[in-house]
Amino acid sequence: MASLSTNFYDLTRDELLALATRWGFPGVHAARLWAYVYLSGEENWAKMPELPARFRTKAEAELSFGRLAVAIEQKSSDGFTHKYLLSLADERRIETVLMRYTGRVTACISSQAGCAMGCVFCATGQMGFVRHLTPGEIVAQAMHVDAILRTAAPGAALAQAQSHSPHGRHERLRNIVLMGMGEPLHNYDSVMTAIDILCDPTGLALGGKKITLSTVGVVPGIIRLADEARPVHLAVSLHGATQEERAALVPVAKKWPLEDLMEACRYYMRKRERRIFYEWTLIEGKNDSAENAHAVGRLLRGQLAQVNLIPLNPTAGYAGEPTGRDAARRFQQTLAGYGLPSTVRQRRGIDIAAGCGQLATAR
Ligand code: SAH
Ligand code: SF4
Repeated sequence: MASLSTNFYDLTRDELLALATRWGFPGVHAARLWAYVYLSGEENWAKMPELPARFRTKAEAELSFGRLAVAIEQKSSDGFTHKYLLSLADERRIETVLMRYTGRVTACISSQAGCAMGCVFCATGQMGFVRHLTPGEIVAQAMHVDAILRTAAPGAALAQAQSHSPHGRHERLRNIVLMGMGEPLHNYDSVMTAIDILCDPTGLALGGKKITLSTVGVVPGIIRLADEARPVHLAVSLHGATQEERAALVPVAKKWPLEDLMEACRYYMRKRERRIFYEWTLIEGKNDSAENAHAVGRLLRGQLAQVNLIPLNPTAGYAGEPTGRDAARRFQQTLAGYGLPSTVRQRRGIDIAAGCGQLATAR
């Protein structure tokens, strides 16, 4: 039966307070409900402390918790990466990844089922666009990972990743990358509402600095992010340093050309006084030559930028090979000559297809 109730996770705190006011209750009850759910992770109405019975009855009748059911869970052989195939209410599916490396826990979250942008080497792009996610479906992914961390015993293996959480000695989710399925700036409003919810100081209270949003280069979205002073870190997928080379890998570059993208990035950096992370998928013989590295250097020289190099992960629809370690190192050295710091992303979770660009589901 279709539910007519509102998904609690779709609501910002202000929206929940406004809803309670419309029901004729003081905002303080709603504020308590909000904090309780996000701090405890509990969804059991009977357990809600300090909520007057009348308010609880009304809230229970009007609200539901749109948790996402786990269809499949996979663990990488090194134990550092967990991938969850999650079912949405309409049976569509998305993937969320929990990563325990670089000394911390990070959730890689999806913003859409599928993706409309069609990057040739990306499994999500290869499957095409299914639909946008609602704010609640984005928040519920974070709640799912948080619940896993909260209920896991904080044993020795987790100790190094332990957060300095004010919520007790159990681990909590502190870092999110919007780098799962989909293009977050193609689903701008829902993604921003979700970020507001995740960052609310009386809820999960993720600092905006703990959230990194990666975009394929949706120029109007980058400008809006800057104008609205959204607190997240911005990562921009580059992959080619000339319009022609980029458009061959990232078809939407035809819509938002490299020149416009660079102008939007410079605008963002000026306005936000923040550096940008540029992502570069390293494909052997395609975009990993010395000349390619010099072109990146010339393009980004003088910017407050960092380049994240991602050796290509295998996908069914693209035949390229990843750049080897030595060539990646040479690429980095060339970038360093232009004053550009860079990192080579660790290849983790490849055995369960949980690496960058490997997320895909049946439509
Ligand atoms: N849609 C956003 C975020 C998701 S993808 C974006 O495109 O930025 C996160 C990063 O993984 C992007 O930089 C993307 O280009 C890269 N990526 C996609 N497919 C990949 C693959 N097969 N191997 C390595 N990186 C890939
Ligand atoms: Fe979409 Fe990003 Fe994949 Fe491109 S790389 S198809 S924008 S998810």
